[in-house]
Amino acid sequence: MNAEAEKYRALDLKYGAQNYAPLPVVLRRGKGVFVWDIDGRRYFDMLSAYSAMNQGHNHPKIAAAAKAQMGKLTLTSRAFYNDLLGPFLMRLCELTGQDKAILMNSGAEAVETAIKAMRLWGYRKKSIPAGQAEIIVCEGNFHGRTTTIVGFSSDPDSYEDFAPATPGFKKIPYGSQEALETAITPNTCGFLVEPIQGEAGVVIPPTGYLKKARELCAKNNVLFCADEIQTGLGRCGKMFCLDYEGIRPDLIILGKALSGGFYPISAVCSRQDVLGLFRPGTHGSTFGANPLACAIGQAALDVIIKEKLPAKAAQIGEYFKTGLARLKHQKIKEVRGKGLLLALEFSSKARPFCEILLKNGVLAKDTHHSTVRFAPPLIITSRQIDQVLDLIEQALAEF
Ligand SMILES: *Cc1c(COP(=O)(O)O)cnc(C)c1O
Repeated sequence: MNAEAEKYRALDLKYGAQNYAPLPVVLRRGKGVFVWDIDGRRYFDMLSAYSAMNQGHNHPKIAAAAKAQMGKLTLTSRAFYNDLLGPFLMRLCELTGQDKAILMNSGAEAVETAIKAMRLWGYRKKSIPAGQAEIIVCEGNFHGRTTTIVGFSSDPDSYEDFAPATPGFKKIPYGSQEALETAITPNTCGFLVEPIQGEAGVVIPPTGYLKKARELCAKNNVLFCADEIQTGLGRCGKMFCLDYEGIRPDLIILGKALSGGFYPISAVCSRQDVLGLFRPGTHGSTFGANPLACAIGQAALDVIIKEKLPAKAAQIGEYFKTGLARLKHQKIKEVRGKGLLLALEFSSKARPFCEILLKNGVLAKDTHHSTVRFAPPLIITSRQIDQVLDLIEQALAEF
């Protein structure tokens, strides 16, 4: 890094909590699949802010919607109605096939909302004795960073020094229907699961697992709750990753790309008999469901639908995966993924490889030591994929 970049890094080191380990690049501008650093050097963004930028950086339609709404009304609080919330809730319900939606800001808040909704349903509809509701989660999960959520993480860095954990969660191996069947008790109100574990390193469960788990939940009167914050909205080659198994969850959690990368917005969509249980005073958020978020969310969905991003992710993802699978290197153990949520698994640490990629003009981040995730904006073209594959091949030669 040059002197100016070092200056920005030094400020971060001095004044910022060091809860991330960024690659040594300071960005200033973004457009489509590209970002530029402070020296005007261009990079392919193969992370898309952890899939929050499926529509690409600075999409002109979403930017226009945001700017227009900024000149009108940005925040009312939920003490009053606003003219954008109702239509946006309807859109979310139609898109997910659910009866009701509730809006929050970050993904973690939406997960917290789903946890509260499942417990509420457990007490009111399933007559679970007070304080006894259990939620089943999976090993290797990532659902966010709040105290309750990290309490059921299996990553020691996430939970160890943040104890005590919130009770009421039971952890089972991901991908095992037997484990789910065994874990369910009369006090189980919900099963919270990612269709693909993104943060764990793009871990794909066995085919048919999600369908079977969904059936087990239905049979045992347990709510099946899909966290599609990362896998949803086109990323995996369908609107929702669960569409691959043709199932509809009882609750679906959305976030990330619902924002178009502009402004945090998240949602939980579910049935009337679940979300219909909330009463005034039982849940809320000052910024949740504000008109600016609704305007941006509508535009973000418009782009995903009008530009057919799920189908693009399926087609380009297949092309990219085939290209990655052709790469030859002694350290490559596996290439896996669905749509444009792909991973390259090495037999050694992946961070040095990401540093070489950075030097070559490709931004990608290692997860869990030996995995590199490739999740570009879904607007990426096959020609651009060819360029990225060339740059990856050059990086491999140096690795
Ligand atoms: C990113 C993510 C979250 C948390 O979202 P935040 O907006 O960072 O709070 C939750 N679940 C999954 C599957 C995610 O990928």
